[in-house]
Amino acid sequence: MVENSIPKEIEELNAEGKGRFHLKPASESTEFPFSCHPGVSCFNACCKQIDVLLTPFDVVRIKNRLGIRSDEFLQKYADLQNFKNTSLPLLKLRMVEGERCAFLSDAGCTIYENRPVVCRNYPTGVATKSPDEKAGENSYFIIEEEMCKGHFEKGKWTIPEYKTNQGSTELDQLNQPWLEIVARLKSLTLKDDQDQKMNIFIMVSYDLDAFRSFVFNSSFLDRFDISVDTVERIKSSDEELLKFGFEWLKFALFAEGSIHPRK
Ligand code: SF4
Ligand code: SF4
Repeated sequence: MVENSIPKEIEELNAEGKGRFHLKPASESTEFPFSCHPGVSCFNACCKQIDVLLTPFDVVRIKNRLGIRSDEFLQKYADLQNFKNTSLPLLKLRMVEGERCAFLSDAGCTIYENRPVVCRNYPTGVATKSPDEKAGENSYFIIEEEMCKGHFEKGKWTIPEYKTNQGSTELDQLNQPWLEIVARLKSLTLKDDQDQKMNIFIMVSYDLDAFRSFVFNSSFLDRFDISVDTVERIKSSDEELLKFGFEWLKFALFAEGSIHPRK
């Protein structure tokens, strides 16, 4: 399976694919045939030797599904890897013995209801915009891989229809502020405080239990002007804490956003 959340230069990636896969440019109205179900001859083939990039909401939902802390999830199931030629750390699902996803069983995905966005969106991908590109209709692509027979099954979708069917529309919206932060970090030249900033990025993005401890077990709430309502909200909900974390990242990385030090 090809990563389906980052690429922009489609031609370049097609060249890298050298016949193993082809990325077909698409728009929101492009229709494509696709269906994946246990009856396809390739069932489970795409969950082996793959790159699955994880978003913060993927990590929270999967670790809660497994009933473990975020640091345990990171230790057992994922690896940090710098994105291409940058020092931006992104998180990938670790393959068992380098071969297959740890959540794969003969009957399919054991965390299906909480599977990552990348798995939900396959075989579609969005071509990310640079921070200076204007908002507007997204550019997409359809990933056509030799091993995937879903393209020859019945079913016809536009990309928004497919994403809604797979339950990724809401996750995309929740992750959007983080994706904007990632796009900015990719194009930013970080300076002397790079390591410190990247550690903050990793903590908020992937280790929510550490971020909770940072907020509630340090002088954070004394130093920053956070409303009582917000404190109550982030205390009782992981998803609210993560949304708050994205806002905190804007302050910590770019000195922007709605969180301010107390005067
Ligand atoms: S999380 Fe599930 S769908 Fe995604 S690669 Fe693993 S087994 Fe496959
Ligand atoms: S049809 Fe494609 S997505 Fe479905 S199991 Fe086969 S390879 Fe994976």
